[in-house]
Amino acid sequence: IIRQGLMERKRMHNIIQELRGNVRVFARIRPFLPDDGEQGNDSETPSVYHFGDEQLSVANLSNPSQRHKFAFDRVFAPSAGQEDVFAEVSELVQSALDGYNVCLFSYGQTGSGKTHTMQGAGTGVMRGLIPRCLEQIGLHKITEEKDGWEFSMEVSFLEIYNETLKDLLRINLSQECKHEIKVGTDGRRTVTDLTVKVVDPNDRAAVDAILALAAKRRATGSTDMNATSSRSHSVFTLNITAMHVERNQVVRGTLNLVDLAGSERLDRSNATGQRQKETVAINKSLSSLVDVFTAIGQKSTHIPFRNSKLTYLLQPALSGDGKTCMIVNLSPTEASVPETLCSLRFASKVNMCELGKAKRTIGELKSEVSTQSNIASIKSGAVSR
Ligand code: ADP
Ligand code: MG
Repeated sequence: IIRQGLMERKRMHNIIQELRGNVRVFARIRPFLPDDGEQGNDSETPSVYHFGDEQLSVANLSNPSQRHKFAFDRVFAPSAGQEDVFAEVSELVQSALDGYNVCLFSYGQTGSGKTHTMQGAGTGVMRGLIPRCLEQIGLHKITEEKDGWEFSMEVSFLEIYNETLKDLLRINLSQECKHEIKVGTDGRRTVTDLTVKVVDPNDRAAVDAILALAAKRRATGSTDMNATSSRSHSVFTLNITAMHVERNQVVRGTLNLVDLAGSERLDRSNATGQRQKETVAINKSLSSLVDVFTAIGQKSTHIPFRNSKLTYLLQPALSGDGKTCMIVNLSPTEASVPETLCSLRFASKVNMCELGKAKRTIGELKSEVSTQSNIASIKSGAVSR
């Protein structure tokens, strides 16, 4: 009866998810910072940005009587905390635990709060989505273990820089590996020679060590926009396997957390030489992401996933019964209005998308594991995920 209750809860959860659609878009405006060189608006001056829970508008600077209006699944005002953002994405973490392939993106210009949203700072209230997702999975693990489920979780963290994959968790820094994306028979992606760490989400010290290592390894360069602007995409991937030995069942889900490179255009960041080459490559994979969402929005029969490493790697979360959430980070300053409008227009495009929906029931998501040796090979990691 307890088991049935759990299955029923999961079934209801899935129905609600289906109704809400498999693509979510949230906008988040960060607070003003001392470095912005602008002040927040007081009551005397009309604000450039207006926001409600699900809408926001931006002043049309060339025509003050007009405003650009946008609607999303959720809008986070500057006062929203990390816990508020996490509260909205936690059901997608549940979907990954239920066996879906899920991707969360942070998109926006450099300095808009992408890394703050994903990674955050420290281990207190400022910690971001990655550590919070791990905590939720840890709690879920404790509950489900009482019910006879065994969990294994694998973590990898890579960076896509100039269309080249880099392993952020590699031990030997002097040895550069060439990584390739391979596709399994079930469509799942694996990356060759990538460090994969088996981690207990409840082992906080181990989790913090992995995140600290990856943060240190991220390639950064400086442009006129921001002294430490990120010129690469980082992809944090969790592969979760839950197994019920007694019932010969296994559930496999994936959660990707992607901190995208700055979306600013070349002409504003004034880049030259190597920087310009990078920006073109960065824009290639970002524009491929835009192309993919455009094609999905137009219900095109050909979705150009293969045009960039990023979209090819994340294809399972961007198609079929995958689930995607785009958090569009915005700067509050008047100077960034042109950039903000670009981000919001892209976000609106994503908001129109519905993924392919090769719908599976919970029963189908749980594949039967018929033999003990099969279970043993999954445990030892011999079976590709
Ligand atoms: P990005 O990754 O988009 O370049 P960051 O996440 O590095 O931007 O944010 C730029 C700066 O703004 C950082 O100093 C960060 O701590 C700060 N910041 C961003 N969002 C918030 C927020 N919601 N609350 C407080 N500080 C923030
Ligand atoms: Mg960043």
